[in-house]
Amino acid sequence: MLADSHAHLDDERFENEVDTIIENAREAGIGFILNPGTEESTSVRAIELSQTYDIVYAGVGFHPSDCASFDKNKHPKMIRKWCEQDKVLAIGEIGLDYYYDDGAPRDLQKKVFEEQIGLANELKKPIIVHDRDAHGDCLDMVKSCLDPNVGGVFHSYSGSVEMAKILLDFGLYLSIGGPLTFKNSRKAPDVVKYMPLDRLLIETDSPYLTPVPYRGRRNEPAYVRFVAEKVAEIKEIPVEEVQETTFENCQRLFGV
Ligand SMILES: [Zn+2]
Repeated sequence: MLADSHAHLDDERFENEVDTIIENAREAGIGFILNPGTEESTSVRAIELSQTYDIVYAGVGFHPSDCASFDKNKHPKMIRKWCEQDKVLAIGEIGLDYYYDDGAPRDLQKKVFEEQIGLANELKKPIIVHDRDAHGDCLDMVKSCLDPNVGGVFHSYSGSVEMAKILLDFGLYLSIGGPLTFKNSRKAPDVVKYMPLDRLLIETDSPYLTPVPYRGRRNEPAYVRFVAEKVAEIKEIPVEEVQETTFENCQRLFGV
């Protein structure tokens, strides 16, 4: 069995094709897909998809790029309500994005991130962290705000081995996706080599970040197998071991 820890099946690029995409995923041996929300409508859609497909589970939350739409008076209540459903497993994706920070100022991103970490602590749901060009602040905020018993994952991890070490010490998981397979991938192979396999997740971030050999096309969960193969190659272990262990890691982190 394989798990894709992060896929946006709610994305408009999959419109009317989700049946086929799920069929492809099943054929590729995938038994678990986590679809995180990025604001209100995608969180609702993620829940709908989780109710339609047995292998799909949902995360709910406000992505840093969408955090201007987070309404303090309305959305915390909504998140609590969403989390009452069995297949809502995480708060995410949430975090900081300093690459695209023109839409949402950093102060606001931090405020919304902190509020949602607080909700994760209260609801005992692990967090799915989006960290782009914001390593220092993400690390500080997670360390100071997150209940370590709640835990979480840094998705599409792009930091250094040194930062990975700190996150692992804090009990977090790291998820690695398509960029690992890119020719110009620098830090990710070192991180994978360093990581204990039992703290690693793999993902597609579909429809983005398509792995080699399909780089440039639309990504889909079935392609997570190329990430598994690359991890196996780097760690010099059988691909089956990577598939099984990363699947178990997902089940453990998200409490399935
Ligand atoms: Zn994402």
